[in-house]
Amino acid sequence: MDLVKLANTLIPDTDLLPLERYEEIYPPRNLPRGAEVTRLAPSPTGFIHLGNLYSALADERIAHTTGGIFYLRIEDTDEKRKVEGAVESVIRSLKYFNVNFDEGAEIDSPLNNYGPYYQRQRASIYRAFAKSLIERGLAYPCFCTEDELNAVREEQTAQKLITGYYGKYAKCRNLTEEQIYANLGAGKPFVIRLKSQGDTSNKLTFHDRIKGDITVTENDQDVVILKSDGIPTYHFAHAIDDHFMRTTLVIRGEEWLSSLPVHIELFKVLGFPMPAYGHTCSLMKVDGGTKRKLSKRKDPELSLDYYRKDGYYPVAVVKYLMTILNSNFEEWERKNPAADYTQFKFTIEKMGKSGALFDLDKLNDISKTELSKLSPEQMYDFLNSWVQEFGTQADKDHFADRAYIIAILNLVMGIGGKKRRKDIERASQAVRMIDYFFDDTFSPQYAYRFDGQTVNSVLSQFAAIYDPADDNSAWFAKVKEVAAKNGFAAEMSDYKANPQNYKGSVADVAEILRIAVTGMPNSPDLCTIMGILGADRCSKRLAAAMIK
Ligand code: GLU
Repeated sequence: MDLVKLANTLIPDTDLLPLERYEEIYPPRNLPRGAEVTRLAPSPTGFIHLGNLYSALADERIAHTTGGIFYLRIEDTDEKRKVEGAVESVIRSLKYFNVNFDEGAEIDSPLNNYGPYYQRQRASIYRAFAKSLIERGLAYPCFCTEDELNAVREEQTAQKLITGYYGKYAKCRNLTEEQIYANLGAGKPFVIRLKSQGDTSNKLTFHDRIKGDITVTENDQDVVILKSDGIPTYHFAHAIDDHFMRTTLVIRGEEWLSSLPVHIELFKVLGFPMPAYGHTCSLMKVDGGTKRKLSKRKDPELSLDYYRKDGYYPVAVVKYLMTILNSNFEEWERKNPAADYTQFKFTIEKMGKSGALFDLDKLNDISKTELSKLSPEQMYDFLNSWVQEFGTQADKDHFADRAYIIAILNLVMGIGGKKRRKDIERASQAVRMIDYFFDDTFSPQYAYRFDGQTVNSVLSQFAAIYDPADDNSAWFAKVKEVAAKNGFAAEMSDYKANPQNYKGSVADVAEILRIAVTGMPNSPDLCTIMGILGADRCSKRLAAAMIK
């Protein structure tokens, strides 16, 4: 068969370059020894989830701890899955978590020498290589229809055979020249398939940087390399792009492991050295006692938007992911509590080989710890940025008074106390937690444990003597004074010795005041709260809290 004529007939494009030219256009990168070039290669659906962030973080850390490059390639070969603005949204979502690209689609960088970074714009490169495979007898046109392929699959399934296009099932593999030209003449659509040279009785050992040595079976599937619209499949584009973008390490989900034999063969027939691979395990969660994969449908926490909308502190999410990415991260953190996580020596070899367990409670704990390390000013900035994006109009109005919020944050974060408080977990929760400091969002639950007369007498007497200039001990002396006047023990020890002699203790009086001022039976230091609220607001609240 005249293969050159066939290649020219199937791929008559005039814009293809001689193959060596691509090697010159995309030369090996000039990087220090050991520098890794990694990439994130999402399809442009715009949906980017925690699993993507998890592997992007590994990519980014490895590139940046080795002096390499982390770039963004858009795998848009499936036009149907394209969503407007998706690429920007991927970049923005990752940036929020401090994962930044050096190069790639929509990245403004002088390093963009390996593009285009959208696969659809690289059609001529794929087609040039597909054409050469046809010329070399390593690829051929396949005219099978969807129905024919389905019928073959059904037959294979019924016989419990491996499904696919291989061996005697590869009907178009041995078409004669006449048959091919007759099909073309009849205008039948075709795809280009690899003419696999492999044999499944051959096994080979493959070193995966995460999974270690694995044994794989040689590929014998005549996979599609160019679809009927002339656009490549993932397999073909992967081999060509990762070669010409000079990726040194492909980190991708373990769902791709089963395609690895295809990729090994493709790299071989194309004459490209293979990059290293690390196949990441899926994120799992414990649900009703059993472990299962995080699911888009069942688990809102899989979506990155969930963390932004709920106001998670991005550093906490990143640190949490680091703890599941590298098992020694936590210990390093304990030893270096003040260090930035980027100083940690991240290694792909330390990544888990099997199901990484995602634990929201642990993330929440890390979040509380991280947020407790901020200054009130930093906390204000963090909360305010959330408020501006997701808060109500009332939240925005409240946050316009920076000094007032910072005074509140000093209190709720325990600044100046013996130990920082760890009450703030997320912005959405923190903003609601301080609602009682504002009249328009103050919604008290007056649930007193004493009769109306006692409550009203405590409230009015305290209101009459409250002085915002009092320090904590002067303030407490007044609470005791009111306690004594209303049949409560001013000293806890007296109450404990003879509880029957009293209505309650000074603690109960403080609780009445707390409920009146904050609307809740528990709060941080009440004297400080009253100081922040100011005398005017306090006296109004004490009056409003009386039982009618
Ligand atoms: N577009 C593929 C995906 O999103 C990329 C896999 C890879 O990283 O090679 O699954």
